[in-house]
Amino acid sequence: MKPAHVLIAGGGIGGLTAALALLQRGFAVDVFESARAWADIGAGVTLAPNAMRVMQHLGIADQIEATSVEPVRQQVRHWQDGRVLMALDRGTRMRDLYHAPYVYAHRADLHVILVAAVEALGGRLHLSSPVTAVSADTHGAHLTLADGTVATGDLVVGADGLKSVVRLLQEPAPAHFTGHIAFRSLVPVTPELRELADNPGNFIGPGRLAVFYPLRGGTLLNLVFFGRQPGWSDDGWTIPAKRSELETLFAGWCAPVQQLIAAADETNLYKWAINARTPLKSWSIDGRITLLGDAAHAMTPFLGQGASSAIEDALVLARAIDAADTLPEALTRYEAARIARTSMIQKESNDNADRMQGDDADLFGMSKLRNEETLGLFAYDAGTVAV
Ligand SMILES: Cc1cc2nc3c(=O)[nH]c(=O)nc-3n(C[C@H](O)[C@H](O)[C@H](O)COP(=O)(O)OP(=O)(O)OC[C@H]3O[C@@H](n4cnc5c(N)ncnc54)[C@H](O)[C@@H]3O)c2cc1C
Repeated sequence: MKPAHVLIAGGGIGGLTAALALLQRGFAVDVFESARAWADIGAGVTLAPNAMRVMQHLGIADQIEATSVEPVRQQVRHWQDGRVLMALDRGTRMRDLYHAPYVYAHRADLHVILVAAVEALGGRLHLSSPVTAVSADTHGAHLTLADGTVATGDLVVGADGLKSVVRLLQEPAPAHFTGHIAFRSLVPVTPELRELADNPGNFIGPGRLAVFYPLRGGTLLNLVFFGRQPGWSDDGWTIPAKRSELETLFAGWCAPVQQLIAAADETNLYKWAINARTPLKSWSIDGRITLLGDAAHAMTPFLGQGASSAIEDALVLARAIDAADTLPEALTRYEAARIARTSMIQKESNDNADRMQGDDADLFGMSKLRNEETLGLFAYDAGTVAV
């Protein structure tokens, strides 16, 4: 028995990519998204070659490339004097090695492309539809919405992010606070910021990290500042922040970092706690309910692989369902292909925070370098990996 009808909780990057991959294989798909509109999320996301290869398989890589920025290289710089500690070549080197680009995308642009592709194939997208409960029985998988409506299909995919309702069936506990906090802002690239926008990367130092990269043809600069603050308890992604908080956190850092902080617009400066999950042994229940993306494996952002992992999950899940004779078999194949890899990335992301925010930035990269490329993450092909 193959599922004809898949219900997806959550219309984020992972849920929409899964919808597209399933629709392309002939399955009917409904996506239930709690938000009232496809929000213009004012932030960037790095799509590494492993994610862009999925987009190639799905036929939307060209559209994403057209709205993204492809950096020639990324530079890792010292916090005190701005000295380049390491240059990581991207650009044509990525295409030559991995047959896919490394790009910086605006999340809202990615959403527009995914939504259009899903709708073009007849995917049904339901906004203002928070999922409150999920269950399964011999008749199917059921998803209850806040207004009491119950939708029934063959399979429910929990792509409902960090605070997943679907994951509660596996682990009745919230995500844990990692000790890291992040501040983000998206600012226009002024002539003064041009050089930094053209030479993206990060500044690393003890317990802190400043990341910056261009979006939308180099007209916008995405800024993310990380610090550590044990005991943080504020909830939410969009807590307004003050520039003075960054000035305190990054006191003594070099002039370009102060320039980035000065550029952050307080009407568009937000902070939030970085929460994450510990790996689960299984993502699936009753052969009819499974997890994907942050709901399955929310990770710290220090390898820039959270969205890329959700995108990989999406294609592997669709391929597993297509290849298997039964749903339980499909979900077993999906987990076998995905859990070990995502658990490894979760661990390595945590470790990378310590490598990048060590006490002595001069030591960065002196011993054997471990990052998303040396770990082999870019070479993964979700379209051909065994399911
Ligand atoms: C600072 C920072 C920087 C990052 N940078 C990168 C990067 O450069 N590269 C990268 O690959 N990853 C990055 N990530 C990680 C990435 O953002 C996430 O891993 C990715 O968004 C996960 O996608 P998702 O679809 O699983 O979840 P989400 O994007 O969180 O989507 C979940 C969706 O479900 C909806 N939802 C939630 N609950 C319900 C419900 N009950 N009912 C219905 N809908 C619901 C939400 O509204 C949302 O639309 C970063 C993360 C952070 C914090």
